[in-house]
Amino acid sequence: MSDRLDRGDKNDETSTDVDVSFSRADCGQEFNSRQELKEHESTQH
Ligand SMILES: [Zn+2]
Repeated sequence: MSDRLDRGDKNDETSTDVDVSFSRADCGQEFNSRQELKEHESTQH
């Protein structure tokens, strides 16, 4: 159950290839680029 709370380096479930999608595990948001992820982090976190 709590195995999904991994905030670590490796996510087995979401270990797709790089540049496919970027997601924030802590809020569940997904992004198409690291740029979007960065902006989200800086604005929402
Ligand atoms: Zn977020």
